[in-house]
Order: sequence, then structure tokens, then C-alpha cells
Amino acid sequence: MMQSGGPLLVCAVIADPVAQSLSPAMHNAAFRHCRLPFVYVAWRVVSEKLAAAVAGIAALGVRGVNVTLPHKEAVVPLLHLVDERARVIGAVNTIVNDNGVLRGYNTDPDGFVAGLLEHGIEVRDQRVLLLGAGGAAKAAAYALANLGARLTILNRTPSHAYALAERTRRLCTHSIETQKLTNEHLASFLPHCDIVVNATSIGMWPKTDISPVPCHLLRRNLVVYDLVYRPRATRLLTEAQAVGADVIAGVTMLVEQGTLAFTMWTGAEAPRAVMRAAVEQQLVVAHEE
Ligand code: NAP
Repeated sequence: MMQSGGPLLVCAVIADPVAQSLSPAMHNAAFRHCRLPFVYVAWRVVSEKLAAAVAGIAALGVRGVNVTLPHKEAVVPLLHLVDERARVIGAVNTIVNDNGVLRGYNTDPDGFVAGLLEHGIEVRDQRVLLLGAGGAAKAAAYALANLGARLTILNRTPSHAYALAERTRRLCTHSIETQKLTNEHLASFLPHCDIVVNATSIGMWPKTDISPVPCHLLRRNLVVYDLVYRPRATRLLTEAQAVGADVIAGVTMLVEQGTLAFTMWTGAEAPRAVMRAAVEQQLVVAHEE
């Protein structure tokens, strides 16, 4: 574990846009709490500059980086080593710089599972309707397939859902159905599902008044897991809660992937409660703005 008093170590998030990221507040609160000589900054990196930015991580001795939209997939071939799981998912969300060697990991599946565990949700043989086929959906599909769920994937662009199913099929014993995300398909699949996961960006700030699932399709004996964390209570979660469904918010996933990155960079145990409080506080501030 790093001791205070040494040189200041830098960690960062790279994204475009990056201004709304909650990671600086979350990690800086943790570094302060643990009295570690680290600082976490947010860097906007446009796609054309991604390769230069990654070379800069090694050159400048940046200790660790979180990678988010739109770079999670494009960054994979730019790293020296990529963890087996990140390779299977096809995306990296965490980079560790070990003396110039850049290693890529994907901690989103752990974050996703933490949300299920927090609510005592068992997914083995459960019928799960996954909405979306982007980065978050890939991590969720990986976790759900490994846990033995029965998956159906609906996505706005059906070919993306199909490609995700092809990638995920190798990981699970059950077959995976895919369809276009439409209200008609939601109406035909949802009544036969136990869990619905929103991994699309529908409902995300600033377009908070929309939901991926029509209200009348929500019901009491359904688990509704929304990976969107800004706002904390999305329209989907609010409407699901109103009908008595079991709801899981995306904030746990965000904090959990952050705790794992913190430990990889510092070697220290992450102060989960401190990190969660920092995120919750930022979400309240964002809500009031
Ligand atoms: P992404 O890779 O850009 O994927 C976006 C997904 O949403 C795609 O499936 C896309 O469909 C779909 N989509 C976007 N706009 C849509 C619309 N108007 N109608 C229908 N579908 C739409 O983004 P991502 O990284 O997966 O992030 C998705 C959401 O998850 C974001 O809100 C993000 O903040 C959240 N997230 C949360 C966590 C967490 O820790 N809780 C972690 C990662 C992401 P197409 O394939 O058709 O484009």
C-alpha cells in the first residue's frame, strides 16, 4: 500500500463528455479519507486523440484511469495487457499503470452483481429481459450469463443485440433470444420475465421524463434494475416502485466498480461508505441544479 509523504500520484477518468462524471468526487473523497497521496482528475479526450492520451498515461506515470463513453472498446488494442474478462466483454473500464505497463480490466460486471446481491436477488434460471446492447449491457450480459440466467436482449438496433447474444452465448448454457426494442416486444416478453434490466441510456439526465418500459407493463412480482444512476431515481424506478416491484438503482454498480479500481491503484481497502456518500451528495446537488 502507498504511504502518504511520497510523490503525488494521479488517477483520472477519460471520456467525452466528462464534465458530469461523479468519479472525481468519489475517488478524491476516498483518497482524502485514507490519507493517500493521490489525486483524481477528469480529462475530456476526443476519439481522435485517444491513442495519444493513452500513450500519455504511460509517459506521465499516471497511476490509474477509468475509461468511459465513448472509449471503452476503442481503448482495448491500445493497452499492453488486457485481462481475460475484459477481452471477453470487449471493453475496458479500468487501467492500471505498473511502471509504464498499461493493464486493462473491466470491473463493471462486479458492480452489476453487487446491485443484485444488495437486494438478495438470485438470477440462476431466472428469465431476465436485458434492454440495451452497449457497454453497460455487455457487462450485465457477461455477469448474467455466468450466473446462469435465461436472457432475452431487446435493443433499438437489433444487430447490436444479435452481436451481443453471439458473444454471450459461449458463456451460458441457455439460449438467448434477441429482438428490436419496441413497446410491442416489451408487451410480449415482459409478462414472462422475472427481472428487467435497463442498460440503455433512456431516462438518463437531462432527458429524465422518459422510461424504456411503459408503465402498464410493470407489476408487483418483477425486479426492475436500472443501470442509469443520474438521476438516482429514474422515471422507470419511480413507476416500478409505485406498483410494488422490487427496484435496484444503478448507484451501487457505480460505487462498486469504483471501489475495485481504488484497490487496484492504491493496494488499500476502499472506504465504500465514504465513496457512496460522495456520490449520493453529488446526485443531490445535480438534482437541485
Ligand atoms: P452505450 O454503450 O452508448 O449504449 C447505449 C445503449 O442505449 C445502446 O444499447 C443504445 O442502443 C441504447 N439507446 C441509446 N439511446 C436510445 C434511445 N433513444 N432509444 C432506445 N435505445 C437507446 O452506453 P453505456 O455505456 O452502455 O451506458 C448506458 C447507460 O448505462 C447510461 O445511462 C450509463 O450512464 C449507464 N451506466 C451505468 C453504469 C453504472 O455503474 N451504474 C455503468 C455503465 C453505464 P443502440 O445500440 O441502438 O445505439
